[in-house]
Amino acid sequence: DPSRTLLFSAAEFGDGNIILMAQDITRLRNLEQMRQDFVANISHELRTPLTVLSGYLETLQDNSDQLPGTWKKALNQMDQQTERLNALANDLVMLSQLESNRKPPPRSTVDIATLLQQVVQDARMVCTENHHISMELVEEKLEVRGEYKELYSAISNLAINAIKHNPGGVDVSLTCRSTENEVIIEICDDGYGIDPKHIPRLTERFYRVDNSRASSTGGTGLGLAIVKHVLMRHGGTLQIRSTLGKGSCFCCHLPKPTVVA
Ligand code: ADP
Repeated sequence: DPSRTLLFSAAEFGDGNIILMAQDITRLRNLEQMRQDFVANISHELRTPLTVLSGYLETLQDNSDQLPGTWKKALNQMDQQTERLNALANDLVMLSQLESNRKPPPRSTVDIATLLQQVVQDARMVCTENHHISMELVEEKLEVRGEYKELYSAISNLAINAIKHNPGGVDVSLTCRSTENEVIIEICDDGYGIDPKHIPRLTERFYRVDNSRASSTGGTGLGLAIVKHVLMRHGGTLQIRSTLGKGSCFCCHLPKPTVVA
């Protein structure tokens, strides 16, 4: 029956016996599909009223000179919260598109030096004088097969995370090197670091180390989930190393493009 999904697994015991298991996971897969469709629909539906709200707020702010101070403050608050909702809706749309697996496989060639230069240049816009961001290319000409916009969003998310989760200041370095089969991009910081017990859950949607600080950092809680899915779609993986008090390293492994003879 082609509509059913079976999961096969095998376990080997010390005495040489092997157990083979077949599980029917059709119901689970259908539920997951319903969840994905629901999130995709609701995030699209949210975007239209949010665009209208943002437009009206802009008009009100443009004409706020005559308004009392408390009204101006209220307008600013409404503007900030609408921005947060916009960011959340955009990230939800992006994540549900990535999860749907309906996008064609990425085919263009992405030059890593160009990508990292743009990430560093844009990340500097959100740095204070105590944040330093630098880049080192061990090899000049490194390329991967991919979609520039998606890879930009992943690497930029990691660089901005290092800055925003270390608001007092931090040194962030972006490096790139390659092995025989992989291009490896590392985003490291010497900031607060993350307790290793959190690391396995960091790429879950809305997982945060410190929920009480979540609203002040301004993130959506979806950043690392997006990074993981972008890398997966490119045949890559994300590895995270961190030491409390010393800093964190987010390491993106991407396959080297195969040369067609
Ligand atoms: P957020 O929108 O909260 O940044 P992410 O999915 O991007 O969501 O990150 C998940 C959590 O991982 C963050 O809330 C933060 O606690 C932690 N985190 C991510 N990057 C760093 C970093 N460079 N240094 C310290 N903590 C980090």
